[in-house]
Amino acid sequence: MPVPPSRVPSGPLAEKWSKHKFEMKLVNPANKRKFTVIVVGSGLAGSSAAASLAELGYNVDCFCYQDSPRRAHSIAAQGGINAAKNYQNDGDSVFRLFYDTIKGGDFRAREANVYRLAEVSVNIIDQCVAQGVPFARDYGGLLANRSFGGAQVSRTFYARGQTGQQLLLGAYSALSRQIALGKVRMHPRTEMLDLVVVDNTVRGIVTRDLVSGRIESWSADAVVLATGGYGNLYFLSTMCAGANVTAAFRAYKRGALFANPCYVQIHPTCIPVTGDHQSKLTLMSESLRNDGRIWVPKRPGDKRPPNQIPEDERDYYLERMYPSFGNLSPRDISSRAAKKVCDEGRGVGEFGRGVYLDFADAIKRLGRKTIEERYGNLFEMYEKITAENPYEVPMRIYPAVHYTMGGLWVDYNLMSNINGLHVIGEANFSDHGANRLGASALMQGLADGYFVLPYTLGHYLATTKLTRLSPSDAAFRQTEAEVRARIQKLVSLKGTRTVVSFHRELGKLMWDLCGMGRNAAGLKEALAKIPPLRERFWKEAIVTGAGEELNVALERAGRVADFLEFGELLCYDALERDESCGSHFREEHQTPDGEAKRDDERFCHVACWEYQGDGNKPLRHVEPLQFENVELGVRSYK
Ligand SMILES: Cc1cc2nc3c(=O)[nH]c(=O)nc-3n(C[C@H](O)[C@H](O)[C@H](O)COP(=O)(O)OP(=O)(O)OC[C@H]3O[C@@H](n4cnc5c(N)ncnc54)[C@H](O)[C@@H]3O)c2cc1C
Repeated sequence: MPVPPSRVPSGPLAEKWSKHKFEMKLVNPANKRKFTVIVVGSGLAGSSAAASLAELGYNVDCFCYQDSPRRAHSIAAQGGINAAKNYQNDGDSVFRLFYDTIKGGDFRAREANVYRLAEVSVNIIDQCVAQGVPFARDYGGLLANRSFGGAQVSRTFYARGQTGQQLLLGAYSALSRQIALGKVRMHPRTEMLDLVVVDNTVRGIVTRDLVSGRIESWSADAVVLATGGYGNLYFLSTMCAGANVTAAFRAYKRGALFANPCYVQIHPTCIPVTGDHQSKLTLMSESLRNDGRIWVPKRPGDKRPPNQIPEDERDYYLERMYPSFGNLSPRDISSRAAKKVCDEGRGVGEFGRGVYLDFADAIKRLGRKTIEERYGNLFEMYEKITAENPYEVPMRIYPAVHYTMGGLWVDYNLMSNINGLHVIGEANFSDHGANRLGASALMQGLADGYFVLPYTLGHYLATTKLTRLSPSDAAFRQTEAEVRARIQKLVSLKGTRTVVSFHRELGKLMWDLCGMGRNAAGLKEALAKIPPLRERFWKEAIVTGAGEELNVALERAGRVADFLEFGELLCYDALERDESCGSHFREEHQTPDGEAKRDDERFCHVACWEYQGDGNKPLRHVEPLQFENVELGVRSYK
């Protein structure tokens, strides 16, 4: 199966989206109510899409596994959301945001998608302000901005350290209005466990009610997956504990192409791991790098407390290595630099896997009150977790898994290669290439949900002649039977090892062999170790309780079983991409000073993986990437 056309419209970059919007077919307003759309996920991408589609007149069934849409992982986003408003008059523009994003992603994203993202970014802020999102304002009352990594302009809008929460409350109010009007039927605590596909066209989904255990089928004219990222494959990550790959992986198994799974973002500013008791890591927002300075002692093994290390014995390594971007160098680069200094024995903290993020200079320059106003809640959170006061002692930080750029392949219309199956937000692969810039995920989720999908989904519905299937159709009954069989298999696991222990073992293996640095030997080792681990899971794991009841052990087992297969796919992708680019750092391919070395000749493409049946190696296809508006340059932040 070749990769379908990307459907990028012809014409100049800046006119593509307007032209495309005009050329797409519309659904007559009176006909919209005849269509039903399923939206799986109620984070920023899902909520904004469900609310917008319902506002347009479509009937929407929206699903999430949490008890409320407001608890989606998006709520955790701290730092902010980018938009090319140029309120600071510091040289920003749509083209600059586009360029920064393409360069930040190490030239591995589609130009047209990224330009559209930059273009609609300005509308997002207006939309959110209209919804009452309380963005920070400057002394004159205008919206304030701060800087994030990989950019030399200030374009990040924020609401203290709770931007995701405030944006989600905005999207949730729009969603609630439609729930009250009866246009959105909200199904919380309901997990999608499979996709119903007939002749490569999506016809609905099969779900499990997480409270009663009931398995149900839902039919629709189109399905939207807004199910977030798969970083919890690594066990320890900054993502919410429930984040998983199940929906996307089921779609992959039903024929959807999975693009660039090996692009995993490792964020440089997380609270370091303290031991095996942890099940989750905490992010300290990238915004802290606006004022915090990152350093380690110059001398390996220097165990003195930070305040006893004189200035000339400190190495502000990011400022030294990347004088132009300094502490605001992009995430992949900052993370690798932190790993490098720790590998040299200069890491701080009990296990030597940490670097300092120091606010002493900023407090001296701006006063404690200003720092408190900017980051007060983050400082409080840090102190609660570590029992150290960051106003007095530098924070200790270390990289951790945070975001996944890979995801289901989509065309310019955000439709996968399965007709009618659209994928938005972190669940798709589309906009960030091999590395995402900070504050661009919220932008993408809301761009997809508020401003792109409502047009492109309409075009699909207007140009597709299909009769909706009944949920009692044979295709649904067959998929339901398969879902039930899998649940039965899981609840029959009565071994002696906990599911969590398998997840932890898989995560450690992925982190060690396919983490910040990867090489062919390590990836082959991972590929040799994952299948036996999976086999052991199906023999030795224990899942308590039954299928027809609230059973969190079963929920977790299903997700871990998927990770045990998906990890292998990710390693195949990392092995075959025999170059370094962005977050994917193949140790064999680096410049003499340790920077990622791309191979544009062989790898300037999207890798799209096709499922070939259990136990068989998936097939790798490619979508070539063309750059007509930016030059494929060496990505330098020096
Ligand atoms: C700690 C942290 C801080 C961050 N800070 C920022 C920031 O400052 N700026 C920025 O731009 N980005 C930030 N990010 C990234 C950003 O928050 C996410 O990429 C974004 O919120 C993802 O939104 P989403 O709507 O795609 O998915 P999510 O918010 O993850 O929502 C996924 C939804 O899918 C549902 N779901 C998943 N699987 C199923 C299933 N099988 N069945 C039913 N429902 C399902 C879930 O219930 C949920 O509703 C941060 C990330 C983290 C971890």
